[in-house]
Amino acid sequence: MSRRPLIAGNWKMNGLRAEAQELATEIATLRKAQPDGAFDLLVCPPYIVMETVGNAVDGAGVFLGAQTCHTAEKGAHTGDISPVMLKDAGCSHVILGHSERRSDHGESDADVQAQAIAAHAQDLITIICVGETESERESGKALDVVGEQIIGSVPAGATAENTVIAYEPVWAIGTGKVATPDDVQKVHAAIRETLGDKLGQDAAQGMRILYGGSMKPGNAQELLALADVDGGLIGGAALKSEDFWAIAQSCPSI
Ligand code: PEP
Repeated sequence: MSRRPLIAGNWKMNGLRAEAQELATEIATLRKAQPDGAFDLLVCPPYIVMETVGNAVDGAGVFLGAQTCHTAEKGAHTGDISPVMLKDAGCSHVILGHSERRSDHGESDADVQAQAIAAHAQDLITIICVGETESERESGKALDVVGEQIIGSVPAGATAENTVIAYEPVWAIGTGKVATPDDVQKVHAAIRETLGDKLGQDAAQGMRILYGGSMKPGNAQELLALADVDGGLIGGAALKSEDFWAIAQSCPSI
């Protein structure tokens, strides 16, 4: 089955207004010059520059997403942002369960699943992140850990249309260390199998599974060519338009 690659930029807590405006404008300009490129392009800036970035990419064929969301529609949740607000701000996607949310904010698989259900109710596409730590990999538990995260974090109502999975080995995020293509393919194939058991074969075969963890222009082509890799979730390299674009250009044609 052919799955359209998704190249998603996770800006994390980076980008003052002028920088965000410049980066988003550069990405929009590159995309407008190649509107038919066979990949989806998504930028996920911090909330506070969402409007700036949204305006800069408006009409350019670049999707807008957030980095997390609350489960409630509104109310007494100081500092939080709801899926309804994301939709209202022009977002189509939201990243959930990133390892930095899991470690910095104690978000559990159950929390991620509840966020995903709330986001789907607003027609947001969720990018649900999973990945093992270095010690879990070294002790041979990578597949078990990732399998448990998939079972716990992905809601029963997930479909190939409303959900994307991102496999991000924690030890590879922002470290320059990259999982070997062989290991990446093994984990992605195992994720697809688990999704098949949980959601059925149609959803599993159609669902995009991204790789994330020090993806760069120099290693993207090899990773994106793997059978069960359907795009990338990019951190550091998403902050330079030429690197982000070069990664997108490395997608195999579908
Ligand atoms: C990320 O945090 O989602 C990520 C993959 O970061 P980096 O590309 O910098 O490793």
